Amino acid sequence: MSDGTGLKNRGHSRADVDERRTAVEQFSGTSLENIAKYAFDPERASHNVENMIGATQVPLGFAGPVKIGGEYANGEFIVPLATTEGALIASISRGMSVINASGGSRTKVFGDYMTRAPVLRVRDLEHACQVIEWMDAHEEELVKAVEGTTSHGRLAKIEKFPTGRALYLRLSYETGDAMGMNMATIASETVCKVIENATGAVMVSVSGNMCSDKKPAAINMIEGRGKTVVAEALIPAEIVESKLHTTADLVVETNVRKNLVGSSLAGTLGANAHAANMVAAFYIATGQDPAQVVGGSMTLTDCEDVDGALYISVRMPVIEVGTVGGGTGLPCQAEALEIMGCKGNGKARKLSEILAVTVLAGELSTLAAQAAGHLGKAHAELGRGKKCQ
Ligand code: NAP
Repeated sequence: MSDGTGLKNRGHSRADVDERRTAVEQFSGTSLENIAKYAFDPERASHNVENMIGATQVPLGFAGPVKIGGEYANGEFIVPLATTEGALIASISRGMSVINASGGSRTKVFGDYMTRAPVLRVRDLEHACQVIEWMDAHEEELVKAVEGTTSHGRLAKIEKFPTGRALYLRLSYETGDAMGMNMATIASETVCKVIENATGAVMVSVSGNMCSDKKPAAINMIEGRGKTVVAEALIPAEIVESKLHTTADLVVETNVRKNLVGSSLAGTLGANAHAANMVAAFYIATGQDPAQVVGGSMTLTDCEDVDGALYISVRMPVIEVGTVGGGTGLPCQAEALEIMGCKGNGKARKLSEILAVTVLAGELSTLAAQAAGHLGKAHAELGRGKKCQ
């Protein structure tokens, strides 16, 4: 396939990539000698990118090891993180070392459904009711239709939101170890075809935005999307003082005033210090869809003073990760998954538990740093190489 420039924009051989990059160099008058240096076979990225001209490298570091007592992630884990933000990995590692000294973290997956939400055009309210009645009476038929599109996906729940001349469906799928967006989209198109044929409703879009993919949304925060995971740790008073140089009550005050009241005042969805930082670095390292960091940003961080000890938890209602499909098969990303024993079948929930504990560690470290009043100093030393006055 060729665009107006005569270049093959789908080809993924090295020669195709080189030819395209040379054209971009000529067009822009820019030498792309660094973009030209990449270690993987470009054919491996044939389902991940079009018009490939090379690769952008993001520095990769690690945090941990961290002790995790989860249902799927059990043991000590090193967590690969790709970032350009100085001080981030140092801060997460500090949180992990505090968690380890306190006996480790606990974590659990509470929900695991990927959603797609088509919007159907209907004639009027009466027609909307007829479509709903038909769907209620033929749910098994819709489940069977999905089985014809995927061997790992299953239609688990159908919600209906009529608005007059439109009917919004929120379809929830089990998607195995895939993040599941392609799977859910293909399945939802098939579901809509069956409904269209039987009822005369017309699919306007396979995504009517009630999914809600890559947009912050209350429906996701409340109902969950992808995996809903909670992680917790209890930090004894002496460790809060010796390792974090603060006290449980000061961390709790920081969390209440900043994460709970401040976020409420600002109207944020989710209430946390910087969950998106950990999620972004984790997603880029492991081949997840980086646009779905928005889901991870809706984390709720909670802290309590338990007789001088610091109890901290994160509730992450929207963790959209997979260990197969998408970018997880790219060579560097696959190796990053291997570091955690999370490549391939049966590993997606384990990966989501490791992410939740990574977010927990980052939240702990940052809240404690702010409570101890040295956040600015840490950033200046590690991020800019000089001390702030
Ligand atoms: P995918 O790579 O499109 O699908 C997963 C594939 O892996 C399926 O072919 C599935 O087979 C197979 N598979 C093998 N072992 C599996 C296992 N243990 N569990 C689950 N599946 C298994 O990946 P996806 O997760 O559905 O979609 C992710 C991609 O979608 C990302 O690249 C993301 O950027 C993109 N995305 C798409 C949309 C969209 O609207 N289409 C939106 C956001 C993101 P079966 O099909 O037979 O089950």
